Amino acid sequence: MLSDSNKWGRKMELLSRKDVMLVIAILTTAVLLHFVLEAPGQAEGGQLRVVADGQEYGTYPLGEDRVIEIVQDCGKNVIHIEGGYAWMEEADCPDGYCMRQGRIHQVKQSVICLPHRLVVEVLAADGEQADKREETGEPVPDAVVH
Ligand SMILES: [Zn+2]
Repeated sequence: MLSDSNKWGRKMELLSRKDVMLVIAILTTAVLLHFVLEAPGQAEGGQLRVVADGQEYGTYPLGEDRVIEIVQDCGKNVIHIEGGYAWMEEADCPDGYCMRQGRIHQVKQSVICLPHRLVVEVLAADGEQADKREETGEPVPDAVVH
């Protein structure tokens, strides 16, 4: 009985060592991928997508300065695009947190106004995040609004 449990214990030790190796390998891959994806100069955004209450409100080129006013039953948000950057300029939501989220310009950066259920996110110029839209089953608009 004693030798059996010893054998079992050794086996477990081997397994756990393998598991640790696997975890290290996964973590290393994840860290490497992170650096590849976040490499500077590769993630400049080209479009700004506005989603209000789960519905696509519009997609706007980041290269054109404009002010987007979104009025919903719950309140108003004003998004400003200038010099390739976008930010929440005005909002009458109770927390005002969206206005403190800063300027966004890189792909996958976003500004979210939770009280107004508003999501503003940066996409690549060629609509790189199309895969994300497929997941949610939303229609994929081909045209860029000018
Ligand atoms: Zn807000």
